Amino acid sequence: MRRISIFGATGSIGQNTLDLIARDPESYHVVALTGGKNVAQLAKDARKFGAEIAVTADPALLPELRARLAGSNVEAAAGPEAICEAASRPADWVMSAIVGAAGLAPGLKALEQGATLALANKESMVCAGPLVLHTAQAHGGRVLPVDSEHSAVFQALIGEEMSRVERVIITASGGAFRDWPLEKLASATPEQAATHPNWAMGQRITIDSASMFNKALEVIETKEFFDLDPAKIEVVVHPESMIHALVGFCDGALMAHLGPPDMRHAIGFALNHPSRADLPVERLDLVKLSQLTFRPACETRWPALRLAREVMQTGGLAGAVFNAAKEQALDAFIEKRIGFQDMAKVVEQTLEHVLAESDLASAAITLDNVRGADHLARETARALMLQHH
Ligand code: NDP
Ligand code: MG
Repeated sequence: MRRISIFGATGSIGQNTLDLIARDPESYHVVALTGGKNVAQLAKDARKFGAEIAVTADPALLPELRARLAGSNVEAAAGPEAICEAASRPADWVMSAIVGAAGLAPGLKALEQGATLALANKESMVCAGPLVLHTAQAHGGRVLPVDSEHSAVFQALIGEEMSRVERVIITASGGAFRDWPLEKLASATPEQAATHPNWAMGQRITIDSASMFNKALEVIETKEFFDLDPAKIEVVVHPESMIHALVGFCDGALMAHLGPPDMRHAIGFALNHPSRADLPVERLDLVKLSQLTFRPACETRWPALRLAREVMQTGGLAGAVFNAAKEQALDAFIEKRIGFQDMAKVVEQTLEHVLAESDLASAAITLDNVRGADHLARETARALMLQHH
């Protein structure tokens, strides 16, 4: 029986992971499930799967979690430290599916106890890629990508030599506004941005898809995960979202990974690696698909993509600054304090300010330094937004 834990169990990725576990409950022992505000779901799943411990990120919700778990054998806990403590409990396979930089510390804890970390939380790689990979290596754990593009690249690379890779192309659906005229973007609302043409995901990543900040994070994630020269990473808009990524080799071959837009594929691949198992995902009918289309990923429409290149060029903790500024700008957009296109401006200005006034570009990538960079970037982004409004 494999011991598994799911961080961010109440979210979109967490629920898809539990869906797979529920199909084969005898094979798994659930150690820890964590959530944020949705303690009703957390308690329900902790009971259903017989988890050892359920943790909410919010200490104010601990009494409610306790009440909902009364009479069960599930332990209840709350707060970021309790989440890290739960991540320290021995487990064989850990899903990292908390949204945002908050997912980094528990992922590192899981790696420190030698677990296989299924990484949906792309922010971990963006903020601290080398630290994540080094921690895995130092403790005999490993990191498997769950982001669909990175799972696709990983699969296309099986049996290949990295030195023969010429380029990696990750696809983007283009998000909610891909067909909007540029002039209209200024009036885009969070509600409009939060509807994805192809994928059903959490609110934040869906809005990040419309702004391409999601793809920007993924470009950085690709560089970190596969240790690639940024010049080899390309983004192409592919509205059908059937090809998730392609790897081009030195002989001109391009290996594409196709699959339906269902995260249970990438989750299931990480869950069953190095083998493959039957998964309850739709099988593609190529004739029905009939055409796959591609468009350039325009950096005027999506400045986040240009910023990602700048971040990779700067290196060091620029990724942590970029992500934190993006999280703050996204909060402000969701709360309607800034417009859709202001998000990229806030992030760009935050990067300029923070990198000019600190030595973060050359600082060592440790958890403390990442937290420092994150904090500074959030304060700077907030101050910039106050100045302008
Ligand atoms: P959701 O918003 O659906 O879920 C996020 C999860 O994190 C929930 O369990 C939420 O709890 C919890 N959470 C939120 N804030 C905190 C916090 N500060 N501390 C601890 N837990 C917290 O997100 P998704 O499932 O869509 O995404 C999760 C991660 O996976 C993200 O990094 C995303 O970029 C990545 N990803 C997602 C994909 C998808 O298809 N959804 C595809 C590829 C990557 P609660 O809901 O109870 O408040
Ligand atoms: Mg993705």
